[in-house]
Amino acid sequence: MSMMSMRKQRQTMPSDVIVIGGGAAGMMAAHAAALYGKQVLLLEKNNRLGKKILITGKGRCNITNRCDTDTFIRNVPQNGRFLYSAVNQLTPEETISYFENSGLSVKTERGNRVFPVSDRAGDVADVLERNIRECGVEIRPERVTRILTEGGAARGVECESGERYLASSVILATGGLSYPRTGSTGDGYRLAENLGHRVTELKPSLIPIVTEEVWCKKAQGLSLKNVTLSLVDRRDEKVLYSELGEMLFTHFGVSGPLVLSASSHLRRMEPGRYLLRIDLKPGLSEKQLDARILRDFSEQANKDFGNSLGKLLPKKLIPVIVRLSEIPYDQKVNQITREMRGRLCGLIKNLTLTVSGFRPIEEAIITSGGVDVKEISPKTMESRLVKGLFFAGEVIDVDAYTGGFNLQIAFSTGYTAGINC
Ligand SMILES: Cc1cc2nc3c(=O)[nH]c(=O)nc-3n(C[C@H](O)[C@H](O)[C@H](O)COP(=O)(O)OP(=O)(O)OC[C@H]3O[C@@H](n4cnc5c(N)ncnc54)[C@H](O)[C@@H]3O)c2cc1C
Repeated sequence: MSMMSMRKQRQTMPSDVIVIGGGAAGMMAAHAAALYGKQVLLLEKNNRLGKKILITGKGRCNITNRCDTDTFIRNVPQNGRFLYSAVNQLTPEETISYFENSGLSVKTERGNRVFPVSDRAGDVADVLERNIRECGVEIRPERVTRILTEGGAARGVECESGERYLASSVILATGGLSYPRTGSTGDGYRLAENLGHRVTELKPSLIPIVTEEVWCKKAQGLSLKNVTLSLVDRRDEKVLYSELGEMLFTHFGVSGPLVLSASSHLRRMEPGRYLLRIDLKPGLSEKQLDARILRDFSEQANKDFGNSLGKLLPKKLIPVIVRLSEIPYDQKVNQITREMRGRLCGLIKNLTLTVSGFRPIEEAIITSGGVDVKEISPKTMESRLVKGLFFAGEVIDVDAYTGGFNLQIAFSTGYTAGINC
């Protein structure tokens, strides 16, 4: 037999399981299935596995969140209850043990966020890849274009290369739509739709916010720590989100942890309807702030107003606040009236921005929406429409806040699919 025909024959040999996508969910699924004695073929269109993992947590990878299942589910605003079973099958604690038993030491930081001690996301991707290779998972660089079925059951896949691979189970773990350069270009939604699955509306989540106020550009690059950010629906003044933390000004508006979290509460984007209110001094009441300003002013009575705020505000915000306060820059501090001071206090406690939109979905941390959870068994991650077809990770219509929850969703659903396929 020639080399060519030997290779051809090997390619078409059926496996037990085909995993489509070598991200966090796909690698965990492949490892679990292999540990359960399955012969696994993993198809990944990139020439390396886990490309998205490398950019997670600003290159440090927030692997999971050290919390119990109920807390976990509370941090999944979209279809959290669907995940109960999967998160119980592989809990955050078990995920931590998984990585530690694989030789990766981890540490727990503020907000129960878990990171590798090395602070290197690449180490997380390496552990997953090493584990699946050691278990004998076969990895091939292929882009899957079709899932094959026979009599309502999965039978294999067809690839862009023209190659067909056969298996009795197929796990779809192709990720979402964000950061497409990592490989997540939405293929999985089309593959699922072609088999009759419903894909709910795809929207960005955990995404920077564009504001109407162009002054943000002036403060571009400024990072605020220990501020309170509130998201308010101006129709009824309802506060949809309010948290203390960090945020960042950009050329288009705002970003940073608080803003990303606030964005996931903006389920319906209507430009002009929502306001972001920043309390720059959450530790002080208006009265305390006024007393503090009076003290600062009395120490520099002959200075111009614009030069008197250095102790109170970050440098980049001073021209912005001065302009919004409508107090002349060169007004002598000892001539500032009580009413003017009131306006200044109001701005510092309540610096308001109007939400005009999201940045494009490609810049989102995650995609909200995906394969409808009603069509997936929460206990096994198997499709209710196509026997032997399983889902794992971001391709499913679930999404969580920041803090390691999204990767844990990928690990838990991947593991559940892997042990049940
Ligand atoms: C900038 C950034 C930072 C983040 N930081 C964190 C964090 O610190 N903690 C956290 O919990 N979450 C974080 N997330 C979210 C987290 O990365 C995702 O939720 C998670 O990676 C989803 O895993 P997945 O395996 O479902 O998808 P992916 O990781 O996107 O993997 C899908 C894989 O499928 C492959 N693929 C796609 N289509 C095909 C096809 N047709 N054939 C073959 N292969 C295909 C892709 O190439 C890709 O490798 C972050 C996301 C971003 C963008």
